[in-house]
Amino acid sequence: MPLSTITMTQKNPDQYLVYGNPIEQSRSPDIHHIFATKSQQTINYQKQFVDLDGFSTAVSYFISQGGKGANVTAPFKEEALRLSDVLTDRASLAGAVNTLTFKNGKIYGDNTDGEGLVQDLLMNGVTLKQSRILILGAGGAVRGVLLPILAQSPKSITIANRTVSKAQDLCKHFDDKRLNACSFNETSESAFDLIINATSASLSGDLPPIPESIITNTIVCYDMVYGKNETPFLQWAKAQGANKIIDGLGMLVGQAAVSFSVWRNVTPDVQPVIDFLRIAIKEG
Ligand code: NDP
Repeated sequence: MPLSTITMTQKNPDQYLVYGNPIEQSRSPDIHHIFATKSQQTINYQKQFVDLDGFSTAVSYFISQGGKGANVTAPFKEEALRLSDVLTDRASLAGAVNTLTFKNGKIYGDNTDGEGLVQDLLMNGVTLKQSRILILGAGGAVRGVLLPILAQSPKSITIANRTVSKAQDLCKHFDDKRLNACSFNETSESAFDLIINATSASLSGDLPPIPESIITNTIVCYDMVYGKNETPFLQWAKAQGANKIIDGLGMLVGQAAVSFSVWRNVTPDVQPVIDFLRIAIKEG
């Protein structure tokens, strides 16, 4: 019996949703039901497809039905920010909300993506303090993770992007001396301890064109994308002799864990869920 069915049969569980368009691919209900089961919590968590112009109506209806909270995925994260009455700093700076809490007649907006990434890196034994970090990409995901990474006291964060002006805009927006922007080519001019691929290149089987010379035998390479097989970036990094490669499955589970703890005040154990999903993904 799927875990979602088990929790559905419990009496009057607290209700949560994830909104998206598309939403069929979302693993969030499984993730949250495992967190709940493992921490003896009773919740019901469903996924909901929302028409592009129907997000605020869907949220209002859910609140009227007693919904406790919701995750938000593409393309509604910016609209969720606008809908929130109260924002955390990390959501406000990210310009996007992935976690809504409905409490005392108010909508609270948070963004747990960056914390999910940081927790996954730390869990994998990656040192962030005083490290020299290269981030590839300058889209919404990077915007969401910069504040939590900066909070870990790295020495520097270089943002390299195909469209360099977007990387420069991010540096201006976050206004922190440790941030700098460059093109993929220019990355050869510095040394790094950690590379985070936050481009969507892996989704189309592409590699961000960075020079081989920046891969050393001490470097850690992380790809926010995950899948059945190693991503093109991680395969390439391994072939160049990277010390360690990590995919984004732990980030996905990590951001869900932070949402769960925001709602339930319980920090769930992420490892059993990562293990479960790793097998589920392999089995397709
Ligand atoms: P955006 O669409 O906002 O940004 C995409 C970024 O990828 C841009 O910087 C874009 O460059 C770059 N890019 C796209 N294609 C290529 C290419 N072929 N070569 C080089 N650069 C490329 O996406 P997000 O920031 O929201 O997401 C980025 C990735 O992170 C996605 O693949 C997403 O699935 C993943 N992700 C994973 C999460 C997890 O929990 N594991 C959470 C969030 C995101 P340009 O600006 O020049 O167009």
